[in-house]
Amino acid sequence: MEYARLFLPTMKETPSDAEVVSHKLMFRAGMIRKVATGIYTYLPLGLRALRKVETIIREEMDGAGAQEILMPMVQPSDLWIESGRWDYYGKELLRLKDRNERGYCLGPTHEEIVTDLVRKEVRSYRDLPLVLYQVQTKFRDEIRPRFGVMRAREFIMKDAYSFDRDDAAALESYEKMYQAYTRIFSRCGLEFKAVEADTGSIGGSASHEFMVLAETGEDLLLSCNRCAYAANMEKAASRLPEADVSETQKEATLEKVHTPGRKHVQEVAEFLKAQPRDLIKTMIFATDKGLVAGLIRGDLEINPLKLKNIFGANFIELAGDEEVRKLTGAEVGFAGPIGLDIPMIADISVAPLRDAICGANETDYHLCHVMTKRDIAAVATGDIRLAKAGERCPRCERGILEEFRGIEVGHIFKLGTKYSDALGAVFLDGNGKEQPCVMGCYGIGVGRTVAAAIEQNHDEHGIIFPVAIAPFQVEILPLQTKKPEVMACARRLYDALRVKGIDVLLDNRDGRPGVKFKDADLIGIPCRVTVGRRFLSDGEVEIKDRKTGEVVEIPEAEAIREIEDRLKALA
Ligand code: ATP
Ligand code: MG
Repeated sequence: MEYARLFLPTMKETPSDAEVVSHKLMFRAGMIRKVATGIYTYLPLGLRALRKVETIIREEMDGAGAQEILMPMVQPSDLWIESGRWDYYGKELLRLKDRNERGYCLGPTHEEIVTDLVRKEVRSYRDLPLVLYQVQTKFRDEIRPRFGVMRAREFIMKDAYSFDRDDAAALESYEKMYQAYTRIFSRCGLEFKAVEADTGSIGGSASHEFMVLAETGEDLLLSCNRCAYAANMEKAASRLPEADVSETQKEATLEKVHTPGRKHVQEVAEFLKAQPRDLIKTMIFATDKGLVAGLIRGDLEINPLKLKNIFGANFIELAGDEEVRKLTGAEVGFAGPIGLDIPMIADISVAPLRDAICGANETDYHLCHVMTKRDIAAVATGDIRLAKAGERCPRCERGILEEFRGIEVGHIFKLGTKYSDALGAVFLDGNGKEQPCVMGCYGIGVGRTVAAAIEQNHDEHGIIFPVAIAPFQVEILPLQTKKPEVMACARRLYDALRVKGIDVLLDNRDGRPGVKFKDADLIGIPCRVTVGRRFLSDGEVEIKDRKTGEVVEIPEAEAIREIEDRLKALA
């Protein structure tokens, strides 16, 4: 491609809403332009990077036995009502009506459409396994679109769906996809981790997220410093931090004590000359299944997502003050499990407590000498604790959990029969008996992957593209454009590289070398070839590595070989 004819508007300024470096650089390097909040146009340079990622994805999907299809973006509401997601998917789902008042939505994901397809077409176990994928536009009316194409409202996703005859076969499909994802993100030149994750509104029994490690990532991850355990903070577990809980050997009877205005764990503990770990903290949450409560030792925190999963709820949030007052008959801060008539889960940390303090469900009062086994024996126990860095690994003996920030670029789910049951996607097994397909689904944010790569690969001058996803692999910079010898050499190199199938950009613009160098650094093409004074005096060109800054000057005749070697080494 010739730069002079390329639509590549580079900029010095950054947009005022750009918070992260990838957003700033994608704008400045003329890769994207904003149309509306969370809605972007990809310009040629941006689209080239996007297509490179898509190509890698397609190669690996095809290699793993998946078949490409293309489903519609506009989806009828009937299918979403059938799957049960129409009502609770919430405002992220952009709903619309056609001229006949029929309901539709813009697809945020495609489980409904693909399951409908399979239920109509698949008959027998001989048709399975079946893995279908597409690369397609999604729409999610995100509550906080930001970071450019990283958290957009309209974005391109590769989504794949697997259908298997039983759990064992479904696990095999899942593992194949896990391997394919690992290859995809390695080939894209990314530093990433696969972590155990919550399944969110997609549902299912288990999932992994592929996280690109970056300071600006929105996700917090915990990973063991000794073994392979890694999980999203939303899902992570750890060994219960030990606390020598105060114990009275004799059984004391419950006692109601006056704790005027003491609502917070720390205040109550100080007032009653106890430790936070002697308290049972009672948190009340609103879910689609009604109010629920979580109990946890006072020095620890509840992870609402774990609570949500235990109750099989679709959403969860802290209950409002008014709801808490109505339920407990007391101000917020004085709730306790004794006498509370809603579904409750006590964290594992609560079970050993023998002389604890909890709210009395009466304003300004707490109960002392609570014995878990005696006073709240009926409450079920589960892990609802938020794990933290520095705590011990739940998997291995001596590991400690470390914290990382990450950008979720891919997410794979074991879905089980959630959608095939809801929509009736069944097949006949070897005995002629109807069975539901066991499903999995697998997503990659294509634009987000490009942005994440930039987040991980840049310097103060601009982008440093990994070769595999670079819009061009090589940029040729003739400096004295008025000198025919210089332009002829640049052209020879350009043609020779193109013949070899290398993506090359020729900066044939008239203009000051300073401007060309600045643009070259900004758009981050991995290998730069300069044809300048040295060519005029000695017939040599300069080859520079964008990443290391390393420069060699070699005769024109050796340049192509050198460039090929360098690209190979960078790949
Ligand atoms: P997030 O937690 O970041 O909101 P998600 O868990 O809702 O994402 P999935 O349903 O797992 O997303 O979607 C699969 C992939 O699509 C994600 O791993 C991500 O790479 C991409 N993706 C999701 N939402 C967006 C978005 N708003 N903009 C760009 N890419 C997105
Ligand atoms: Mg996800």
